[in-house]
Amino acid sequence: SGPGNYTGLVEGCCCDYETAHSLNDHVLHPILQELVKTPFFRYFKVKLWCDCPFWPDDGMCHLRDCSVCECPESEFPEPFKKPSGVLAADDVICQEGKPQAAVDRTLDDRIFRGWIEIDNPWTYDDETDNSAMTYVNLQLNPERYTGYAGASAQRIWTAIYKENCPQYPSEELCHEKEVMYKLISGLHSSISVHIASEYLLDASTNLWGPNLELLYYRVWKHPDRVRNLYFIFLFVLRAVTKAADYLEQAEYNTGNPIEDLKTHSLVRQLLYNPELISACPVPFDEAKLWQGENGPELKLQIQKQFRNISAVMNCVGCEKCRLWGKLQVNGLATALKVLFSVDGESNQNHLQLQRNEVIALFNLLNRLSESVKFVHDMRPSLEKMETHG
Ligand code: FAD
Repeated sequence: SGPGNYTGLVEGCCCDYETAHSLNDHVLHPILQELVKTPFFRYFKVKLWCDCPFWPDDGMCHLRDCSVCECPESEFPEPFKKPSGVLAADDVICQEGKPQAAVDRTLDDRIFRGWIEIDNPWTYDDETDNSAMTYVNLQLNPERYTGYAGASAQRIWTAIYKENCPQYPSEELCHEKEVMYKLISGLHSSISVHIASEYLLDASTNLWGPNLELLYYRVWKHPDRVRNLYFIFLFVLRAVTKAADYLEQAEYNTGNPIEDLKTHSLVRQLLYNPELISACPVPFDEAKLWQGENGPELKLQIQKQFRNISAVMNCVGCEKCRLWGKLQVNGLATALKVLFSVDGESNQNHLQLQRNEVIALFNLLNRLSESVKFVHDMRPSLEKMETHG
């Protein structure tokens, strides 16, 4: 079968290709496109310095189309400027035995306890080091072609695949490592799709548009890359739906009540969408992972490898690529935290996310949703290219 034949279940997932793109087209893509424009979701806090722990700066930061436009401080939502809280001691201990617990049952249902600063074992950056962070308006800095290529970019991808996500001989590649490989490869596909969908076609006239040849050769021609894109899309979607109760209770406050109500309503439309719940209730079954004898040990090892991938993002030589690389790796680390660092489905009480993690998670899902849509929409042209060589 040729690359164009995507039927049946997405490998390792609980949802088939047809359902995935039909859900994306009708439900997810339209909601996510609105959601990422809201004041809550369009500002991302990030450390943009080139402070690579592995190699010296190679001067790539100065590329045209590569710099990030940081926004003036007056533009950020006021509540974002205040330091996030730290969990009060009696918030982390069990409510059992407290006199209030008997009279106020709602205490037990409170999953979201305010935005707090809390570490994520899947990321390298110290997210609480506010002095080095700036806010970026993502709407003004779209992920697209930047001209970042050559040895610097190659070095990053090689480091990610070879050092942190080794392709072991097949007999050694356990299911968990395979999942990590597919996530990275799927993210790589999505980045390539965005480069292809917004490409600088003519620098002299500043003409931007799709570059189907690039899409064909970098992604479509390699069926595993398309499959891995669908895989990461369903994986991240599962993390969002698993954290639904937490995300529903979270505060989307930016000091603009009308916009904030809209944000909350869009989040709810996405989380509790009847079409999503009936067609693909569990997009990925995370319960199958880490079940073996060495499960806990393997998890720590893979967590360390993922932290290395997160550290490598500080070495991405182009600022705009670094912004989106960091955001998407942070979003993926948040999905991993939701799926694998919470003790079981019923125990969402232990889930605590930072505001920035939630912003990264939804923006990542939106990027993946855009990529799935673009590949699907371009399918007839890509199939034509296939038959004509
Ligand atoms: P690359 O995309 O660099 O791929 C390198 C090698 O990896 C390929 O030769 C192939 O063997 C393998 N490979 C490729 N795709 C996959 C896949 N999906 N799964 C498994 N293996 C694969 N450029 C921009 O213009 N805009 C951006 O926003 C941008 N963001 C970036 C973010 C990060 C984190 C990084 C590391 C790079 C980014 N780049 C960006 C650069 C871009 O990804 C490419 O590196 C560049 O366009 C050169 O492409 P290439 O054809 O040499 O192959």
